[in-house]
Amino acid sequence: MKVFKFGGASINNAERIKNISGILKSYQDEKILVVISAMGKTTNALEKVVEAFYKGEKEEALQLFENVKQVHLNLANELLKQPVNQINDFFTEVEWLLHDKPVKDPDYYYDQIVCAGELLSSSIVSAFLHSEKIKNIWIDVRDIVRTDDNFRDANVDLGFTQNKINEIIIPAFDTTNIVVTQGFIGSTDENESTTLGREGSDYTAALFANMMNAESLTIWKDVEGVMNADPKEFGDAKFINALSYDEVIEMAYYGAQVIHPKTIKPLQNKNIPLYVRCFLNPDAEGTIISNKNVHQLPPIIVLKQNQVLINLNSKDFSFVGEKPMSRLYEIFAELKIKPNLTQNAAISILICMDDHHEKIEKLALKASEIFDVQMEKNLTLLTIRHYNTNIINKLSKDKTIVLEQKTKDTIQMLMKRLDQSKTY
Ligand code: ASP
Ligand code: MG
Repeated sequence: MKVFKFGGASINNAERIKNISGILKSYQDEKILVVISAMGKTTNALEKVVEAFYKGEKEEALQLFENVKQVHLNLANELLKQPVNQINDFFTEVEWLLHDKPVKDPDYYYDQIVCAGELLSSSIVSAFLHSEKIKNIWIDVRDIVRTDDNFRDANVDLGFTQNKINEIIIPAFDTTNIVVTQGFIGSTDENESTTLGREGSDYTAALFANMMNAESLTIWKDVEGVMNADPKEFGDAKFINALSYDEVIEMAYYGAQVIHPKTIKPLQNKNIPLYVRCFLNPDAEGTIISNKNVHQLPPIIVLKQNQVLINLNSKDFSFVGEKPMSRLYEIFAELKIKPNLTQNAAISILICMDDHHEKIEKLALKASEIFDVQMEKNLTLLTIRHYNTNIINKLSKDKTIVLEQKTKDTIQMLMKRLDQSKTY
């Protein structure tokens, strides 16, 4: 059994959905669990619906939802002779909710509305596969993936979910080779919809691969595979054909937007290989990510924009000992802050973090009880794994570096903002 995950770009229009059906046809005799995310930018569009609804702008919310609805109706129309009745139920569920007054937590509404994206896209894909004589069973993943009620970033109940997979998904494969379901969404024990955090479909697919003991997971993307840098920023980005799980975890940690960071662990635990392949070129092998160590990797480059450097100075010039340090880490925990880089000196601490305006204000306020606080904004954090002198020189040339850290494998340089419109 294999798990295939198709992301937003792979189902963005009728042509691309036909393309997926072509890919599935080439795996005719295999059992495949297909995990689908929302079409194109649907999740962003639904987020706008939620915002308007929560502000009390009911008409605006309904109008914005109408647009999402039309996109899906047009797509279904273009692909199929008959209407996909199921999608009307999902439209109605959201519209009913939009007629209510927002009285609960915004994250609760977010999940009830945003989950529609995956339900709609997967229903259309499943119907189209049927019309192409590709037998498949569509399953509402909310009947399978049970989560807590931490809306917008829900945690999966692994035991319950495993039982449902055994009870529903595994037997489904007795009568079909293809099961189509959704990524990113789940539900609570009270049947409220939940979401697992943006870009969470990769994670859902990895959980399924783990719980079904799949032979592999393939994530189909619009790029050749994993590159050593973001090709939008680095004109000479190189394709990498093999990586270890550990390398990918490191890349994700430093901010590479390859794969959702939670994806690797479920695969690594059962030693299931992950393929990242291009749906536009299904004959190409793509990148394989597995437990094999890969030597001689090219330098791997990750840029994180919008960084802030916070300089905390001890108020009375006394050394920064364990007490203020532990208070500082308490503050991080209270505010759920994950610094990207820290450095200690005798009477000061430097912290580099993402520029989350609200969190920084709160951090500055709390830290000012023990430190003098200074801040520098608009910085870029450049991380290079497997660096060499050439690449460091090339990427740091003419840049002002405000902080640098180096280990055997990795160098990080915090710089004055790099021009985002330029490629390197
Ligand atoms: N549709 C969701 C998002 O855009 C989940 C995903 O694509 O993985 O974040
Ligand atoms: Mg996506």
